[in-house]
Amino acid sequence: MKSFWTKKTKGQIRGKHIWRILASWIITQGVLLGTPAFADNTQKSLTYSQLLEKIKAGEVTEIDAYPSQGIAKVSLEGQKNNEPMYTVNLFEYNPELLDQIRDQKINFEVKRSPDNSAAMGLVFNILIVFVVITVLLTILRRTGQSQGNALNFGKSRARFQMEAKTGILFDDVAGIEEAKEELQEVVTFLKKPEKFTAIGAKIPKGVLLVGPPGTGKTLLAKAIAGEAGVPFFSISGSEFVEMFVGVGASRVRDLFRKAKENAPCIIFIDEIDAVGRQRGAGIGGGNDEREQTLNQLLTEMDGFEGNTGIIIIAATNRPDVLDAALLRPGRFDRQVIVDLPSYNGRLGILEVHARNKKLTSEVSLGAIARRTPGFSGADLANMLNEAAILTARRRKEAITSLEIDDAIDRVTIGLSLAPLLDSKKKRLIAYHEVGHSLLMTLLKNSDPLNKVTIIPRSGGVGGFAQPVLDEGMIDSGLYTRAWLIDRITISLGGRAAEDEIFGPAEVTVGAANDIRSVANLAREMVTRYGMSDLGPVALENPSEEVFLGRGWQSQQSEYSEEVAIKIDHQVRAIAFRCYEEARRIIRENRVLMDRLVDLLIDKETIEGDEFRQIISEYTTLPEKQLSINLPKK
Ligand code: ADP
Ligand code: MG
Ligand code: ZN
Repeated sequence: MKSFWTKKTKGQIRGKHIWRILASWIITQGVLLGTPAFADNTQKSLTYSQLLEKIKAGEVTEIDAYPSQGIAKVSLEGQKNNEPMYTVNLFEYNPELLDQIRDQKINFEVKRSPDNSAAMGLVFNILIVFVVITVLLTILRRTGQSQGNALNFGKSRARFQMEAKTGILFDDVAGIEEAKEELQEVVTFLKKPEKFTAIGAKIPKGVLLVGPPGTGKTLLAKAIAGEAGVPFFSISGSEFVEMFVGVGASRVRDLFRKAKENAPCIIFIDEIDAVGRQRGAGIGGGNDEREQTLNQLLTEMDGFEGNTGIIIIAATNRPDVLDAALLRPGRFDRQVIVDLPSYNGRLGILEVHARNKKLTSEVSLGAIARRTPGFSGADLANMLNEAAILTARRRKEAITSLEIDDAIDRVTIGLSLAPLLDSKKKRLIAYHEVGHSLLMTLLKNSDPLNKVTIIPRSGGVGGFAQPVLDEGMIDSGLYTRAWLIDRITISLGGRAAEDEIFGPAEVTVGAANDIRSVANLAREMVTRYGMSDLGPVALENPSEEVFLGRGWQSQQSEYSEEVAIKIDHQVRAIAFRCYEEARRIIRENRVLMDRLVDLLIDKETIEGDEFRQIISEYTTLPEKQLSINLPKK
């Protein structure tokens, strides 16, 4: 979840980080030079707190800072010109001091050290400029905070973008036809408002696009502006919410002022949940800045008549956390769902993005669409781009299905790395993956194997056994109990193979992900799908991450301790049963296993067809495996 919280912490960390780097530079400088610059005994000194007092009392006339030495030289009132200045040791970070200097209008100068060698001088100059800029920025930020935007920060740093012409049309957006249809109307509002106003209809002000990341919400908003030929103003919710109070609200004001000057137009607010979250809720309580910003947004939305020709489109993937005030009539009262694309949608999106790419004729977009359930539009665009990059790298004329395959793996699993040298580790990984693959091929309800490989991938993946995805099942989401049980058994196949072949003492942590997914799946079977001896009782709501927007107390479980124990028993029973089954199958096919492992170590990758071919020499394959119609590449 992207939110202002994370942003804020990042900012703070970054801030600290800069100071640490600065400090270490200063120390390094000190070590390098090693020259006490002000070694004369005639100097008088003040402590830091004395200095602050003197400034307060108005006795200080001039301060020269020497950041390189971490000191400042100070002249006091009544001090003669030839009298030496007072020396004050500074901290690396002196916000109060700088505040006071500014308040009292004291002559303030940052000086370079008098005894630098020429080479060091350059470094110093850069360093000093850096220090001064950082210090000034810090002061500015603090001022903004303490004096309520006295410097008109929001205005001076307009953070919204304006595009007079987005150049994007509805044709560039595929796969979300219902959303497009609904938004077609908005285009008409913008183009021919008379049509609606003539009969007294009010033009809607706000449309909320709801959907997971990468499904084309931004693209869709741009397409509306493009189709209607109006300017497109955009800002991200997280940009409203800065570290200091008042800036967000003033940005909202600026944005709406600019938009009114350019009406008709579209205002697009991305990630609106960053500002539009329920007020006064969540862990850590409310946040003034965010609430002010949200209030300003609400005020602005009420402040213009529906017919000025400004339509606000906001995007979020968390409509549930939004403040109710945002959703009431007259604000974002229209919600349009932008969901992950289905098969046809994916095909459409692939067609859009294949327009400007050269593909060989054997590449079938339909086959790619079938193999990529769960991909968002952005994933698909990214995947095709990866394939194009690979093609260029391999000096080919056009993208072949080989590059597509590699790109899909790269996007879903990670970059492939150099193969391991033959070793015990490689052998263990091979047994693990063949364990998965064997079960995938021998179990009745399993999706068939697409390929198994022991070429490692980035992110610590040693290899993988990949099923052919059954797009009917994935798109409909109707997984059967038998399928789930087989899925669990397959997931345990890796560990089962390690256990059978190398013994219980040699099993590795490589199975951690498998084990995790087994636990999740088995638990869901028991608590959500009613697929255990506990009966068809839903015991848990779909697990939702605890987010900061709304009460997290309501996340408590809805059953007693006693039931919790029963659930654990059931979950464990499922896992144990599946594990035993996996071990049994592997034990009974030991000879076959050894042969497959030798082949895998030799070839690094075995395609599903070849794998099934070998297995069929030893035993008969289940029906589903025989009848599979692999997407031809
Ligand atoms: P969101 O705003 O929903 O996170 P974006 O609109 O930023 O997603 O999508 C990112 C990119 O992914 C787009 O620029 C486009 O290239 C591609 N994309 C996403 N969805 C679609 C779609 N439905 N049709 C065509 N391209 C899409
Ligand atoms: Mg977006
Ligand atoms: Zn595994």
